[in-house]
Amino acid sequence: MKSDLFFQIINALETHEIKAYYQPQYDSNSGRLVSAEALVRWEREDGTLVMPDDFVPLLEESDAICTLDWFMAEEVCKTLREMGENAIPIAVNFSRWHIRENDFCRKLNGLLQTYGINPKLFEVEITESALSEEDFCVVERWVYGIADLGVRIAIDDFGAGFTSLQFVKDLPVDFLKIDKAFLADNCQDERGRGTLETVFFFASKLNLRTIAEGVETIEQLKFLQSMDCDRVQGYLFSKPLRKEDFIVIALFDNEPAVDEKDIYLETFSSNTALLSTIKQEYQLIIFGNLCKNSYYLMSQSPEMDFGAPTAGVIDDMTENAMAQAPKGYDKKYYDTLSREALINAYNEGKRRIEVEVKQQVEEKVLTLHTVVHLSKHPYRDDIMMVGMSRVISFE
Ligand code: C2E
Ligand code: CA
Ligand code: CA
Repeated sequence: MKSDLFFQIINALETHEIKAYYQPQYDSNSGRLVSAEALVRWEREDGTLVMPDDFVPLLEESDAICTLDWFMAEEVCKTLREMGENAIPIAVNFSRWHIRENDFCRKLNGLLQTYGINPKLFEVEITESALSEEDFCVVERWVYGIADLGVRIAIDDFGAGFTSLQFVKDLPVDFLKIDKAFLADNCQDERGRGTLETVFFFASKLNLRTIAEGVETIEQLKFLQSMDCDRVQGYLFSKPLRKEDFIVIALFDNEPAVDEKDIYLETFSSNTALLSTIKQEYQLIIFGNLCKNSYYLMSQSPEMDFGAPTAGVIDDMTENAMAQAPKGYDKKYYDTLSREALINAYNEGKRRIEVEVKQQVEEKVLTLHTVVHLSKHPYRDDIMMVGMSRVISFE
């Protein structure tokens, strides 16, 4: 008999309480954010956050887990599409049940096509133990099918079983994801260190790239760098993030994760609290790079939905807004809020612009009080903007 919890989870999928969070992965040498792993979270109505360990194992008892995994795969496609040409690869966890899912590749291909996603941006994560429990022929067919789509494959929790080296040797996989248990004791333990060295040696011989997860300390990072590990992921750099926070960091704040990254743990949670406060004050918040002519809608209440894409080109957004401005107000919009106007203002030394603009929404006119803050990007020569709009009247 299926438990209450089981039905609650299925219901949570329908009511959108199940969410994809994203944990950034960094190039271990440059410290740049290069990819991410999608991890499921259950945000219950009462505000509690349920972690996967409390519900994924129950779903994994049957092929019900497939529903969740496909849901996550679709969420990832949506996120990749929103990130547009700045998208970075995102990995999705697939449980062992998918190996025997008849039309797995057709389904995956269909999803990528529907959302127009380059297959190279989608990574399939499957655990080493899932692969080793299946017949090699079945696994081989499954892995080759995925690789033929151009989708990358990572073997998760690698080394935890250590029974399946021959599996890896003969399969077109791209990444070995080293089990975090190996990083215990700060990589100081002789035997653990020896095993890790062997895994990295083995990976380099087979031309496989490596990802270390669960990196929590600078000592672990330094050791992994010395092993030529390709990507690192862990609390040292970032926890799994809500989609909005992840996109902002990936698109606009992708700077080397250097020493003292541990302070980021604090910053992320307080940033999230700060953001939600500001979102209550302003119905529309836009983050943009004026030099790169790109923007991202950080927050948008339903009454502010003018049909602009979540991320896109600032000039297109301006054109759109001017087309929807009542007579006479299109020029005012251009003179104050276009990219050209904002760059000129910045060059004249202005750092804050405040203006009232109007938009025609069907029969009604929406008056918006807009404040734009201008600043130089902390590391590059780009001019950044944060624009926040509040509805003053709608009549
Ligand atoms: P996993 O795939 O091995 O994911 C890595 C886990 O390590 C995640 O736990 C992540 O939050 C956690 N982690 C990240 N950095 C650190 C760190 O520095 N230190 C430590 N100690 N842990 C770190 P999470 O999100 O609780 O997920 C647990 C497991 O649930 C995952 O392990 C995966 O097996 C499963 N899971 C999560 N999402 C999905 C999904 O969409 N589908 C399926 N089938 N399984 C999922
Ligand atoms: Ca994983
Ligand atoms: Ca893992």
